[in-house]
Amino acid sequence: MIKFETDVLIVGAGGAGMYAAIEAAKSGASVILADRSLIGRGGATVMAMMTVAAAIGAQTPDHWERHLADTLTAGHGLCNESLSAILCEDAPARILEMDAWKVGWAREDGHIEQAHAPGHDRPRCVYVDFLNTGPAVSKTLRRHVQNASTIRRIGDLCIVDIAVEDGVACGATAIHMETGEPVILAAKAVVIATGGLTRLYRRNSASLNMAGDGYALALRAGAPLIDMEFVQFFPIGHLAPRLVGLDPIMWDPFRYKLGGILLNGQMREFEQRYAAEDGRHEGGRNDGTYVLTRDLATYAIMKEVEAGRGSPAGGAYLSFKHVPEAELRRAFGPVIDTLAKNGIDLTQRPIEVAPIAHYHMGGVKVDTQFESAVPNLFACGEAVGGANGANRLSGNAITEALVFGARAGRSAAATAAKASHRWRPSASAATLDLLRRRTPSVTANPAALIGELQGVMMDKVGPFRTQTQLDEALADIDRIERAIGTDPMASGAPFDAVLVDWLDLRNMVLVARSVTLAARARLESRGSHQREDFPGLDPRWQFNQTVELRDGRLALAADARLERSSHAAQPLADIPA
Ligand SMILES: Cc1cc2nc3c(=O)[nH]c(=O)nc-3n(C[C@H](O)[C@H](O)[C@H](O)COP(=O)(O)OP(=O)(O)OC[C@H]3O[C@@H](n4cnc5c(N)ncnc54)[C@H](O)[C@@H]3O)c2cc1C
Repeated sequence: MIKFETDVLIVGAGGAGMYAAIEAAKSGASVILADRSLIGRGGATVMAMMTVAAAIGAQTPDHWERHLADTLTAGHGLCNESLSAILCEDAPARILEMDAWKVGWAREDGHIEQAHAPGHDRPRCVYVDFLNTGPAVSKTLRRHVQNASTIRRIGDLCIVDIAVEDGVACGATAIHMETGEPVILAAKAVVIATGGLTRLYRRNSASLNMAGDGYALALRAGAPLIDMEFVQFFPIGHLAPRLVGLDPIMWDPFRYKLGGILLNGQMREFEQRYAAEDGRHEGGRNDGTYVLTRDLATYAIMKEVEAGRGSPAGGAYLSFKHVPEAELRRAFGPVIDTLAKNGIDLTQRPIEVAPIAHYHMGGVKVDTQFESAVPNLFACGEAVGGANGANRLSGNAITEALVFGARAGRSAAATAAKASHRWRPSASAATLDLLRRRTPSVTANPAALIGELQGVMMDKVGPFRTQTQLDEALADIDRIERAIGTDPMASGAPFDAVLVDWLDLRNMVLVARSVTLAARARLESRGSHQREDFPGLDPRWQFNQTVELRDGRLALAADARLERSSHAAQPLADIPA
């Protein structure tokens, strides 16, 4: 059995995990930075191509409190205001630190350029031209991680469970992806930095390792999650033709810079019609730069498809044919060449787009030290819930990864400095037992079941929900859970995909059930949670819901911290996990 010992164990090496490692090491802690993928190359951070919000005031005078006001407005009354304030107040320091580390923020007349993204009251989003923000951020952090001698990087290590002794986190139990061998990691403090859950959905912008592992790890360790019902869908995710090498949500910056006209399958514009029906929106502009809010654009595209007016691949067309080639190249330079390699010429034909699961507002419930309800267990980045409430503002997610990562790394190091190692064999015994067991005969295909679960989540727990669909989804999740059984399936081969799929599905079922239960309980429409049977925001629902695992059952509750009303429209029930 391989065993490691460290002060701080960080699970996940995206933007949040790497920043946490750098800060924990700076505070004097020994650090293990573990990732199921390559260090700094898995997850969302390296895939992101666009904007990072921070009130640095380089483009236009700004103050972090203006950024906070916009964040709270977007969150529709459900933000944990202390976390939102940390996000906005620390953002300029992290962005300027990254600038000093030569990340390469785009500049104009000598100052850092800031783009005006929807929902912000002024230009506030820094970026690295051309659509290179995530790779540049990851590369910069990887360099700093590599230069810190007290950070030990371990890739291909999938954390299966957090080890808990006497109710306190004391490390983790993992498998080495190549050999399938179990690995023990003893740590004085553990940080979950595993990113989001969007791989739960059939159409998603995620990589294979973003299926909500961190939420399942936290639940099984005894830590509650918050706001699980709030999954953000991005309306114009790339749908067709095939596109390799670019972020599927890249069409947003194209629209910011150049306009871009949404057309249905009959080549007719439709945004204005939905804007007029909705009444909340000011109506469209005819210069091609009209942008509906994300929720309304998602609704409009889905309703056009439902009415039989979708594009051939089942979405809408997005056309840039009105933009001259020279202008396209001036705005997006080498990206135009990558599009050409994919056979896409925007001057000749529109591409097809459709809503895509993109980000999760919910996550591990933490305090302002980023510690969960389980002592010595911290979380940061997209794995944390609360800062963005019911909807996230563009550009806040990478900021959240950097800011919360730095904070959590410091807090974990401070805790480790006062703690001693608590890991005992009993802390990993149940997980080791699970990893040793095997289903005697392979009765199901975990990869196929993952596909089935993704379909259920997309069709029944997607951007628009109803009681009937959510009830059906819970029944489907029960069925899928029964099909995977309680003992792992495995092929025994190196990089055992069957075993990894089984472990992933074990987490995905738990997390999918958390999202669905929270969505079924919330009898209103707010931010990214839209109930077709309960349209409109209901002030009685201005409280957050938490989910936790008690004696093997998921329990849903109204979060005490933010509850502003004694009314709960539906009894909050204990449901089997
Ligand atoms: C395509 C795309 C584009 C985006 N564009 C933007 C944008 O322009 N602006 C913006 O603000 N936000 C954007 N976002 C969102 C933003 O990128 C993410 O919210 C943010 O990067 C999350 O950072 P993170 O460090 O929390 O998680 P991630 O970067 O996702 O990293 C999580 C890491 O945890 C690892 N991991 C997961 N489970 C385990 C396990 N069990 N054991 C070990 N390791 C594990 C993964 O391999 C991964 O490396 C985008 C997201 C996507 C997917």
